[in-house]
Amino acid sequence: MPSGPRSDALIAEIQQEFPRFRLVAKGGRRLQRAIDVALKVVTLGAQRDYLTRYHTVLGDTVYLPTKWADETDEERFVILRHERVHLRQRRRYGLLIFAAIYLLPILPLGLAWGRARIEWEAYAETLRAVAEVKGIGAARDPALHAYLVEQFASGAYGWMWPFPSVIRRWISEALAQIEGGAA
Ligand SMILES: [Zn+2]
Repeated sequence: MPSGPRSDALIAEIQQEFPRFRLVAKGGRRLQRAIDVALKVVTLGAQRDYLTRYHTVLGDTVYLPTKWADETDEERFVILRHERVHLRQRRRYGLLIFAAIYLLPILPLGLAWGRARIEWEAYAETLRAVAEVKGIGAARDPALHAYLVEQFASGAYGWMWPFPSVIRRWISEALAQIEGGAA
């Protein structure tokens, strides 16, 4: 697959941290196609872009949607920064707990909260990476914020935290940290 200097450098960095890290296309994998069907069923079709638009971490592997082929170097860099957070979370929690929180689409509120916090940690990194490669103005783009809110409030991740005002507060806090230079 075509690549670029920024995303290639980040891939090398991730491979240093996770020696078994690899990128694999979702399309050819039977398990990935089975997950796609399951997600369509349990979300009543609200998550129908699993194979085409969403990246998924399992073990040390990041599974890539078909859209990956069209991403620019900068877009890939931003995506991989998000997915690196999931790799670190998987290491922190262990595969079973992480996979349970991440993959099971409809769970009691408490675990949906868990998934929302796992995803938020990664989407905060998305904002940080966007600010790095495209400037703070791009991280402040209302269209990006609307996209982020949708990830939490829609069926994309099983309506994991359908409270836009809460997500918008998290976004504001993350931007304040980024602008303040905090880690
Ligand atoms: Zn994520």
